[in-house]
Amino acid sequence: MGLSITSINGQKVRFGAGLRNDICSELSELSSTKALILSTPQQVDMAMELATMIGDRASGVFTRATMHTPVDVTEEAVEHAQSVQADSVVAIGGGSTIGLSKAISLRTGLPQVAIPTTYAGSEATPILGQTDKGIKTTLTDANVLPRVILYDPELVASLPPSMTVTSALNAVAHAAEALYAKDRTEETTALAINGLKAFAEGLPTVVENPNDLKAREETQRGAWACGTVLGLVGMALHHKLCHTLGGSFNLPHAETHAIVLPHAIAYNAVSVPDLLAPVSDSLGGSKPGQALWEFAIAMGAPLALKDLGLSEDDLDRATEITLKNPYWNPRSVTADGVRALLQNAWAGNAPSV
Ligand code: NAD
Repeated sequence: MGLSITSINGQKVRFGAGLRNDICSELSELSSTKALILSTPQQVDMAMELATMIGDRASGVFTRATMHTPVDVTEEAVEHAQSVQADSVVAIGGGSTIGLSKAISLRTGLPQVAIPTTYAGSEATPILGQTDKGIKTTLTDANVLPRVILYDPELVASLPPSMTVTSALNAVAHAAEALYAKDRTEETTALAINGLKAFAEGLPTVVENPNDLKAREETQRGAWACGTVLGLVGMALHHKLCHTLGGSFNLPHAETHAIVLPHAIAYNAVSVPDLLAPVSDSLGGSKPGQALWEFAIAMGAPLALKDLGLSEDDLDRATEITLKNPYWNPRSVTADGVRALLQNAWAGNAPSV
């Protein structure tokens, strides 16, 4: 059931409707007889269905995964995993659940199987963001990469329409920034373009018919390509802005990415129009930022940071934080430039360049 590939980062990756039913064969390949299943409180039903399917090979479920991987939750989960003598972890969910799985694996060495239910792409990266006492730090460690990914389109079909769109644009953001990454290669550019095309072609069908499993699988292939490329190259201004808005103003992850993306890409397109041409080639139109803006409107994405609860008074501080630690970006990052970009994203205006 489902095509199996070995990813360029060494993961076993499979795509196919109903693939979650094959979990036992994956656990047996990992010699696991006591898998701990992880989910958020909102996805307990999915976790319980999986636990029932796994039967004797399941050592239990831990359903308290939460956004930004708080260390206290991880410590509780590690204690739970040790108390039931778990010998693997299975994450069924989005970036929050997969983040918990990676954090457990970092501390225990347990192998992971990821069953993603959003497009965020964490399952394909060696990156782990963790929060301790309100401060989020990010590390990269090959040991936190899940050994197996099972992309089952039946599971992502239950993602609510608004989250489908914002999560897809979160994935598109990884590909867009990979196109101009300083450490890009021909291989990473090809992956980014594949990811962009998969969403350009698959997302409109998914929005029209959320249960179209063929289109859902196409978008999951896009999520895999976008996630993999995120793990292979460095990101720039767009991810820095979203990290600032999420970390310091507590804005929701996928929605923030969806709103900021056209503006950040329009900003950088001034310096690297040729590198960003695949964005407009995939989505239509001549300017990459404008193309993303029109795609976001057509997909019904949120457009204004003010609608996420950010106050206009916060824009100066957000600009300051974004400029605090210098980082590489294809266009120089100026206070005026970032402030104007944020103003447009806050108000829901079209990108200005
Ligand atoms: P999420 O995992 O926080 O999920 C959001 C909500 O949607 C949760 O309540 C979840 O239970 C629910 N949900 C998920 N899939 C569902 C489905 N199919 N049906 C119904 N409900 C569903 O959201 P996310 O955007 O996937 O992940 C965000 C987190 O992942 C952030 O903390 C972000 O920093 C992290 N992330 C990490 C990486 C990385 O490489 N380390 C990459 C991307 C995102």
